[in-house]
Amino acid sequence: MFDLLIRNANLPDGREGVDIAVKDGRIAAIERAIEGQAGEIIEAGGRLVSPPFVDPHFHMDATLSLGLPRMNVSGTLLEGIDLWGELRPTLTREAVVERALKYCDLAVSQGLLAIRSHVDVSDPGLVTVEALLEVREKVAPTIDLQLVAFPQDGYYRCPAAVDALNRALDMGVDVVGGIPHFERTMEDGRRSVEALCRIAAERGLMVDMHCDESDDPMSRHVETLAAETLRHGLQGRVSGSHLTSMHSMDNYYVSKLIPLMTEARLNAIPNPLINIVIQGRHDTYPKRRGMTRVRELMDAGINVAFGHDCVMDPWYSMGSGDMLEVAHMAVHVAQMTSIADRKRIFDAITVNSARALGLEGYGLEVGCNADMVLLQARDPLEALRLKATRLAVIRRGRIIARTQPRIAELDIEGRPQTVDPADYAPIAAS
Ligand SMILES: [Zn+2]
Repeated sequence: MFDLLIRNANLPDGREGVDIAVKDGRIAAIERAIEGQAGEIIEAGGRLVSPPFVDPHFHMDATLSLGLPRMNVSGTLLEGIDLWGELRPTLTREAVVERALKYCDLAVSQGLLAIRSHVDVSDPGLVTVEALLEVREKVAPTIDLQLVAFPQDGYYRCPAAVDALNRALDMGVDVVGGIPHFERTMEDGRRSVEALCRIAAERGLMVDMHCDESDDPMSRHVETLAAETLRHGLQGRVSGSHLTSMHSMDNYYVSKLIPLMTEARLNAIPNPLINIVIQGRHDTYPKRRGMTRVRELMDAGINVAFGHDCVMDPWYSMGSGDMLEVAHMAVHVAQMTSIADRKRIFDAITVNSARALGLEGYGLEVGCNADMVLLQARDPLEALRLKATRLAVIRRGRIIARTQPRIAELDIEGRPQTVDPADYAPIAAS
């Protein structure tokens, strides 16, 4: 007797027509035609069942604050930081918690069940930290929320940040953050990377820094991050977020940098929606895309995971908690349109992101947590193309969100009566 049985599912790795049996919150079996009873049965009908989406880079303390206290007119990173600085002193714990919980509802409905959120530690009152620690506990049954102590105003540039960051870690924030490109000088940026990696090594924590989020081809902080990772033996536990300067760097220099990043086993976390909209703002034409070198990093064996970064906040007025939208943008901006490339892009919002966060029990294998999403698509390529509807979202074997399939009704003589967008891909296309 199983708790849940999913019949006739396709999986992202290419397995087709398999059943998935769940018992006690874990996957008990994945094979064809599983015998046995179940408390609940889902007929997948040859549709895709994926492990849940994972967002490795988000700002939950700022989400859904769009328009408070005003809009970002220039669209630049720097005006966004100024605007957040105006909003921050007015924040209350209750308001931050309420916005974050609201976002988590949206995330769950989109099959997004693990999120790494940066939390600003620039204000010594640490209202944002208290709020997100409360949210982490409240959403734990449905979302794995990992928090990064993020000195938004600079670790050295903001006088209170050194102490506040350490207090945030004492309070239980999971990961050490940083923003070296926002320090006053390149040298201060380098020193901040050194200091923050040392803190992580001493405390046994992971690192995730906003790193080189600029169009400056001379920015060198990711090099320092990789070198400090090696110095402290933090291989595999450090992430460089954004890395947009790599888009503009000299090719010779990059040919030396990427092997160093590989040696340090850095995770790279580009944020396609944000990078395409914030970078290149000082260019006339041609305008740079600003996203880091995704294909080259993947080819070098670096774990690349895509983040959403922002949803309706001082930096980004759009977004919907949809990691397929993030990946859809990545396909275009990285020009990774081949079948093999699009499969790699799908991995970057699922398994690669889970690896960057160090999630345990993630995946579609026997013994893994029974966390899954049933999509209105037959494979990952169709899921990406359509930003497919999440028909069912399952957490530890329980269906926690459902959405009706998107089916249009036609009234045109001689044509079909209904249109399911997932029925239109030529079979040869996957
Ligand atoms: Zn960010």
